[in-house]
Amino acid sequence: MHFFSSRPLLCSLLLASPLAAIQLAALPLHAQATAQPPSPSGTQTTQQAAGQTTPSASTPPKPKIRPNDAGAPIPTRPDILRGAYGPYRANNDLLYYHLDIRVDPDTQTVTGKNTIRFSMLQDGTRIQLDLRDTLSIDKILLGDTPLKYTRDTGAVFIDFPQTLHSGQTYSIDFFYSGHPEETGRFGGMTFKKDPAGRVWINTACEGTGASMWWPNKDQWRDEVDSMDISVAIPNGLVDVSNGKFVARTDLGDGYTRWDWHVSYPINNYDVALNIGNYVHFDDKLNGDDKLDPLPLDFYVLPEDLDKAKVQFSQAKGMLEAYQHYFGEYPFAKDGYKLVEVPYAGMEHQSAVAYGNLFQNGYLGRDWTGVGISPRFDFIIIHESGHEWFGNSITAADSSDMWIHEGWTTYLEGLYVEYRWGKSDAIKYLNGLKPKIVNMRPIVAERGVNADPTEDQYFKGALMINTLRSVIDDDPKWLVLLHDFYQHFKYQNIMTEDVVAWWNQHTGQNLTPIFDQYLRHEHIPRLELLFGEAPGTVMYKWAVDEDKFAMPVRVGTPDHWQIIHPTTKWQTMQTQLSKDDFQVATDLYYVDVNKQ
Ligand SMILES: [Zn+2]
Repeated sequence: MHFFSSRPLLCSLLLASPLAAIQLAALPLHAQATAQPPSPSGTQTTQQAAGQTTPSASTPPKPKIRPNDAGAPIPTRPDILRGAYGPYRANNDLLYYHLDIRVDPDTQTVTGKNTIRFSMLQDGTRIQLDLRDTLSIDKILLGDTPLKYTRDTGAVFIDFPQTLHSGQTYSIDFFYSGHPEETGRFGGMTFKKDPAGRVWINTACEGTGASMWWPNKDQWRDEVDSMDISVAIPNGLVDVSNGKFVARTDLGDGYTRWDWHVSYPINNYDVALNIGNYVHFDDKLNGDDKLDPLPLDFYVLPEDLDKAKVQFSQAKGMLEAYQHYFGEYPFAKDGYKLVEVPYAGMEHQSAVAYGNLFQNGYLGRDWTGVGISPRFDFIIIHESGHEWFGNSITAADSSDMWIHEGWTTYLEGLYVEYRWGKSDAIKYLNGLKPKIVNMRPIVAERGVNADPTEDQYFKGALMINTLRSVIDDDPKWLVLLHDFYQHFKYQNIMTEDVVAWWNQHTGQNLTPIFDQYLRHEHIPRLELLFGEAPGTVMYKWAVDEDKFAMPVRVGTPDHWQIIHPTTKWQTMQTQLSKDDFQVATDLYYVDVNKQ
């Protein structure tokens, strides 16, 4: 799972296979941080993997140092070319892709083209696209005119014979072919067999980059407004991609083309192929006076159909919960899908990848170790939460990926709150604490295809829970959550946008709080000094941010009192002894130092 991903393999969430997660979990701490993950086994199935090792159902997770927690790796040239938003990217705005490919399971190759429509934002003769250099470029055409190009690792610089003019729209056809590299355990595109030995081909490329299997402008800042996906595969197989199913056409040569249409902006890494012997069932989420019914479509292997019909019924409650807090499911025209895959899960837009063994918790385990996670299927709840935070609202640079992961992890807590109440939500979220290492700031370096620390999930969620306590007005908090999402939906934003919005809409200067949690490795520590004078305690924050000021509840749970510490010592009266004087650390993610 996410913990165990090493840099070349990373995806936003939980890309590791159940097998790898379980195997790595059994290693001692040092080995976890340094061991290379096992190579994928083409015939290993999630079901078999679960049967090999039974993870402890109740042991709380211990703090682990994940490979990307300790420090940022030095960016490579491919990282910079892919991570930077250089002049040949900034001079154009994506409008539309039509990815039209043929996938041959026997030769494990992809052949076809991506039609890319864009408008120029300034005059120019060159643009940058991306395609991993393991794949061949067959030709790039503007109309009938072949274009010259230069490859530099994964970047493809395309030169036009005439100036492209600002404000004009252009369309090119980028033809390519080859065998997509399977990077790491699951990264990119995998040609596997399902448990019955049938073809099972999947993509999952967050982190590794979509350009490892198809040509595109492989960055996070710019998205197409809509997309068509056409996938020709041998007759008898099914392709499930993003968006709405349009048509299935027998091509007469042993192949059938599956056409899907995406009606919304979409991240490159969300674009997915799922090719296999899928069976389909469907349902719908009933509408109400404001919302139309939402089609729900589910694709699983035939032998998992009965289990899926039970487990996937959780999708409705998930959608109801998130629609309650944030408003309509963002991709209603495309419907909502769950698609069985051979890895744990991924937030592929409107076609969420699912590999959680049709069990509650995460891979059968209690994810936060406090007895709440076994009530629901972690992958359905987490990955689908990304439809709101990650797919609808997207970070403009992977450096700020906490906007996906911190928020979506907080959404898990909201789901718990919707179903079982606030107190269970607080308990669930505080169960994340042992997963946090506080070794590296959450926001990473920009422009280098950064892979942030996995604290972005857990610390990010606990920061948001802390923000709720700072605002200290639940009805107001829920309105703010809703309005925050609605304001930024379908946009690509950065941390500064988030902070500015919260400052404006709360009337408070929350910047030092956000900065302390996001831009420093240490969390705030409340210094308490007893006994300087009888019946008093002195207090202040020990933090990196000079202007840090955050209220906090102290005293006892029956009689919390809100104090307003800053970075300067203040004194308060208390009848409580040092031992009895408590801080509400389940409502504020802070350390406490009593002296
Ligand atoms: Zn996630």
